[in-house]
Amino acid sequence: MLGVTILGNNSAVPAFERHPTSQVLATSSRSFLIDCGEGTQIQLIRYKIRRSRISHIFISHLHGDHYFGLVGLLNSFALLGRQQELHVVAPPALQEVLELQFKLADTRMPYPLHFHAIQAPGHLMTIDDMEIRCFRTDHRIECFGFVFKEQKKPRRINAEAVQAHRVHYSAFENLRQGNDYTAPDGTVIKNEQLTEAAPKGKTYAFCADTRYDESIIPAIQGADMIYHEATYLDNFAAQAHLRFHSTSKEAARIAQKAQVKKLLIGHFSSRYDVLDAFETEAREVFPNTDLALEGVCYRIP
Ligand SMILES: [Zn+2]
Ligand SMILES: [Zn+2]
Repeated sequence: MLGVTILGNNSAVPAFERHPTSQVLATSSRSFLIDCGEGTQIQLIRYKIRRSRISHIFISHLHGDHYFGLVGLLNSFALLGRQQELHVVAPPALQEVLELQFKLADTRMPYPLHFHAIQAPGHLMTIDDMEIRCFRTDHRIECFGFVFKEQKKPRRINAEAVQAHRVHYSAFENLRQGNDYTAPDGTVIKNEQLTEAAPKGKTYAFCADTRYDESIIPAIQGADMIYHEATYLDNFAAQAHLRFHSTSKEAARIAQKAQVKKLLIGHFSSRYDVLDAFETEAREVFPNTDLALEGVCYRIP
C-alpha cells in the first residue's frame, strides 16, 4: 500500500495552525520525505511518523517554506544516533547551504549522508520497485516536481494450479516473468493457467510550487494521485500568476487535463483562515479533489 501523509499544507509563513510544505510518502518498506519546511520534525513526532524509516529526502526548490526544516532534522538524526545512510535529493545549491552550516557548527554526522544534485528533468533513481523522476515547474526560481512510479510487478503464482499441473518450483521464476510452462513430456501450459496478474503499480506525483503550466502534463499523465499547489482562490488568479503560484481551479484543470484519478490540493495562502472554498472551487472542475489536511494519510487509489 502506498500512502502520503501531509505534514504541512500552508504556503510561505505558518498560520492558523498550518505549517509550511512537507509530506511523507510511505511504501511497504520505507518512507520518502518530500520537502521539509520549518517545523517538519515537530510534525513527524506529532503524527508518529517513524523517522528511522525515512531513507530519502526530496527537496523541490530553495524557497524557505520548502527546506528551512532540513538542517534541524539532519542535525536531530545525528543527535539521536542515527546510523543508517540518508539520501538528500535537491537542486545543487542546497549542498553549499548544508556544508556551510555544518562547517560553522563543526557538525560531524554519525551516519552517511549522500547528496544527489538534480541536474536535469527525467529519471532520478530507482529504489526497490519504485522509479523516481523529476520535472521542471514554472516558478520564480528553479523548481522540480517529483513522480514516484511503482514498476510493473511480476505475476503471481497460482498455488492450486501449479500443484494440479505438478510444476516444479524451479520453473516459478520463469512463470512470474509471464512465460509459458513446458512440462517434461513436452506439453505446453499457458502462463495464464498458472499465474494471476499482479496488481497494477501506483503512481504519485508531487507538483511542487508552480504557476498554471500545461507543460507538466506529460510528466504526470494518468497518475493515480497528484498533489498540486492551490495557493489562492479563483478571484486571485491574476495575483497567482504574478507570484508564480496557482489557484484551486487551475490545479483542478491540470488534474482534469492530465486524466489523473485523484487530486490533493495544498500550499494555501495565509490570507485564508477557512479552506472550504478551495475544495468547492476545485470540485466544480475536478470532482475527485480533496484538501491536503495535516496529519491525514491519503491512500493512493
Ligand atoms: Zn512555497
Ligand atoms: Zn516557492
